[in-house]
Amino acid sequence: PEAPAHGILAGLDPDQRAAAGVPAGPLLIVAGPGTGKTRTVTHRLAHLVLERDVPARDCLAITFTRRAADELTERLHALIGPDADDITVGTFHSFGLGFLREHHDRLGLTAAFGVADTARKHGVLTEITGDETAARALARGLTDPGPADPAHAEAAARYRARLRELDLVDFDDLVTEPVRLLEADPQLTAAYRDRYRWITVDEYQDVDDTQYRLLRALAPPEANLTAIGDPDQAIYSFRGAAVGFFLRFEQDYPTAPVHALTRNYRSGRHIIDTAVRAIAPGTLVPGRALHAASPREAHRVVRHDAADERTETEAAFVARTIDGLLGGSSFHSLDSGRVTGDGPGGIGFDDIAVLYRTDAQSRVLLDEFARAGLPVQKRSHDPLSARAGVDLLLAELAHVADRDGSALDELRAAATTVVFSVPDETQADVHGAVELLTPLAARCGDDLARFRREVLLGAEVDALDPRAEAISLLTLHASKGLEFPVVFLVGCEDGLLPLSWPGTAPTAEEIAEERRLFFVGVTRAQDHLWLTGAARRTRHGQVRDRTPSPFLTGLGDAVTRAEAPAPRKARATQLSLL
Ligand code: ATP
Ligand code: MG
Repeated sequence: PEAPAHGILAGLDPDQRAAAGVPAGPLLIVAGPGTGKTRTVTHRLAHLVLERDVPARDCLAITFTRRAADELTERLHALIGPDADDITVGTFHSFGLGFLREHHDRLGLTAAFGVADTARKHGVLTEITGDETAARALARGLTDPGPADPAHAEAAARYRARLRELDLVDFDDLVTEPVRLLEADPQLTAAYRDRYRWITVDEYQDVDDTQYRLLRALAPPEANLTAIGDPDQAIYSFRGAAVGFFLRFEQDYPTAPVHALTRNYRSGRHIIDTAVRAIAPGTLVPGRALHAASPREAHRVVRHDAADERTETEAAFVARTIDGLLGGSSFHSLDSGRVTGDGPGGIGFDDIAVLYRTDAQSRVLLDEFARAGLPVQKRSHDPLSARAGVDLLLAELAHVADRDGSALDELRAAATTVVFSVPDETQADVHGAVELLTPLAARCGDDLARFRREVLLGAEVDALDPRAEAISLLTLHASKGLEFPVVFLVGCEDGLLPLSWPGTAPTAEEIAEERRLFFVGVTRAQDHLWLTGAARRTRHGQVRDRTPSPFLTGLGDAVTRAEAPAPRKARATQLSLL
């Protein structure tokens, strides 16, 4: 039957509506950035539950990050109401954790088993192998098996056995163990297929081999499995993900219709032009269209190469430009103790993101922004549980696991207890960890168990408070799926984008993946996009000339050059007026 243009699906355009309204069976949606993939997923689920009598508890929605899962949950609540709580929403890892909690006895674990963080994992590996170097070699081998080596396999088996003795699993186990159990037990598989009759996977381009096997186990060829993604945004192929999974989907689910979406509702037309030209030489979806559909005013993309550190550094250019966007208001508001950065164009600090390829690039930005009085929030993609101090708080929270208290109150109580019981040199770690976890705790409301799960499985970026009045500093990888009115993509230089190590040339495949990463960065911007770099940088006391990123060539006239730096006098006058 035709998808109705009234009811829930009325909030979608005709292509989105056709995709969201596919009645049953497998479905593949392949679409570019900002075309409303996530919006289509939420509307499809709401349509199924409210208009097709699908029980909410039969639905499983898998996303790639905690933050994406939160957003999905929020949007489902808005559309469906309280019944949305019955939909299982999570990452592959959180699904796996729930699975193992139910079947812990099959692995010889207690119901209260823990998830080993990076430090703990390394400790066990060192214990097994007897030395640090061997431990690191084994750690690498665990995720990338390579050619079968009996000694290695034996060490890996001892590592897993030791983890189980300690009542632990590691992050990889959260997906590999459910896959192993499901593939070995047809009855268990049947039970899960019966429980989750409707499965949706967002950011499908980044599934890896084990995750795909999990999907295959849960969803037979005729199942109601919806996969949504964009091959051109595949940025984790170094982890084993590749466009190959799109082809495999079409083979393994041969009856699946393939839907495309081509209207981009996120960005102004110049940003879309730039993005399309940027990906063109390496696109995995040749001939795909991406049209601007948003009524927003189109600003040109601005390119700027900072001449050298004596005139104005790249970081100083970014800070100055932000200050200009905010109408120079940041100085005033900070002085009055009230951090609100809304400039004349209605742009606030939280509308701005600075994206970079490597975490190391954030240091100069942090220094410069601190000097300029610009508030920032910066989190890495590392697991939360690897952050010093977080482990102490988690251990303390485990004592109160079965209490009904609010996550925020329990976090505060745990912090007080821990701070009084640790040596002075550890106290700063605990304070840092509390600061990091507070926004996350606030978002988990009254659900302490959920808070603990989020901390165990989350990355630092997941703890970012989306409502904080601060500029976001993010790696390109961490920016996936997000959107900001103002984006600075810094370090557009050969060697950083594409990233390469001195003396080694990246392979064609590596360059292709870097180009997709550049594409992801460009397509995060809604209104304003700056592409910046430095013509010269001082590294280890030596001034080096830098070559602009090859990805900047051929972008066409949607890109314009930044104006020369305003004379320093202008700011001096402004400051003297305060
Ligand atoms: P990405 O590939 O970056 O993950 P996406 O395809 O998932 O992007 P969304 O985040 O779902 O895109 O949508 C991008 C923006 O466009 C959002 O702000 C969304 O609300 C808006 N949008 C999507 N579809 C429509 C529509 N039909 N009408 C109005 N706004 C829309
Ligand atoms: Mg999305």
